[in-house]
Parts: sequence; structure tokens; C-alpha cells
Amino acid sequence: MNKRISVAIDGPSGAGKSTLAKMVAKEFGFKYVDTGAIYRALGLYVLRAGVSPGDQEEVSALLPQADIKITYNEEGAQRMILCGEDVSDAIRLPEVSKYASDVSALPAVRVFLLDMQRSMAEKYDVVMDGRDIGTVVLPDAPIKIFLTAAPQVRAERRYKELREKGIDSTYDQVYSDMLRRDKNDSERVLAPLRPAEDSVIIDTTDLNLEQSFIKVAELIRGRLGNEDDI
Ligand code: C5P
Repeated sequence: MNKRISVAIDGPSGAGKSTLAKMVAKEFGFKYVDTGAIYRALGLYVLRAGVSPGDQEEVSALLPQADIKITYNEEGAQRMILCGEDVSDAIRLPEVSKYASDVSALPAVRVFLLDMQRSMAEKYDVVMDGRDIGTVVLPDAPIKIFLTAAPQVRAERRYKELREKGIDSTYDQVYSDMLRRDKNDSERVLAPLRPAEDSVIIDTTDLNLEQSFIKVAELIRGRLGNEDDI
């Protein structure tokens, strides 16, 4: 069997990971795996169960019933199925972001979700985005990118995205939620948000989408061209 190709894209929220990963998937024919959506699905499950997202014991007790599946629709878009229900839209609500971030700090949760993520990379050539893909989930990925941007710019992008989806919020709310999540994600003990040593850091603060994509695509093409590295 041919070796699978994996592209890992990590970074804080609003850095442009998902938009760029989708473009990469299309350009190179990879499957896009949004791992944040998996944490969000679990966050939603915990929210609906009325359990505190920071309570390791109670959340752990819920895990065996949290039936989370990833599927793809006809257009190739990832859909999250929670206990048989398509929750792909519900998981985007700001309340769920907070729950996702809180549950993601629990070691039991990270272990529970690890196999699901790794098995996607075993089945398909993937571009996978998240916080710990290059460091923990796919440490042997031949292409690792750490995308970042100034917090104000990231909050602006996220605010625009929420508004376009018709989700009610203010810039200040989005900005403070983002700082809180950045702090949570980078200070947790297990799998904190940080660039893998062998990742390429791309700062998109002063780059528009097209410019960012050109950089990312050039990098991938360069690595794919050098087959011995893969
Ligand atoms: O990327 P997104 O904002 O959808 O992720 C939601 C939350 O899930 C993040 O704030 C982070 O706490 C968590 N997450 C994670 N590890 C990943 C992907 C997401 O801890 N690989």
C-alpha cells in the first residue's frame, strides 16, 4: 500500500486554518479533517447533558455514550454526527466554543478522541487542522504548518465569519472569548497549543487569503516534489 500523505495545520483560532485547509484539500485532492469540530461535538454533548465542562470525573463518565462520527456530504464537506444527529451547525455557537475549549483540557477527553483522528489519517491522504496535530496526533506528518496572526486580526476575522452565519455577537465578545481560549489552549498540561519543532510558522497578519494560500501551497508542493522526505 502506498504511504498516506498527511499535512498538519495547527494554530490558534482565527488564524485561517480551516479556510486554508479546505483550499489545500481541493487543490491537492486530500480529505480535510477539522479536528476542532470533534472537540466541539463533544462540548455540545457535555453542554446538553448539563455537566460542567471542567469536571474530569463527570465528563469521563459521559464519554462511553458520546457517539461521535465524522461523515462527508456529497460536496465533500465534513459533517459531525452526534448520537445520530447532524450537529454541524449547532457546534458553531459561541457557547459551544467555550465548552469545547474546556473539555479539550481534560486528559481523558484527549485520549478518547485520539484514535478517531489518527484513523482518518490512516484511511485517507489528509490535511488535518487543530492545535496538536503536528505535536501529538500525527507527529510523523511530513508537512507541518503552524498558522498564526495578531489577536486583533484573528478576532476581526472570526467576528465577520459569525456575522455571515447570522450568529449574534459583538467584536469585543469575540475578542475576549478568543483570548480566553488562546490562554486555555496554550496553558493546558496535555497537548498544549505550540508549534512542532519541525513545523513551518506562517504569520498571516498582513496576508490576505490568496497570499496565505500561495505560501501554504508552495510549501506543500515543494515537499511533495521531494518524495524522499515523505
Ligand atoms: O478549531 P476550533 O476553534 O473549532 O476548536 C475548538 C476548540 O477545540 C479549541 O478552542 C481547542 O480548545 C479545542 N481543540 C483542541 N485540539 C484540537 C482541535 C481543537 O484542543 N486538535
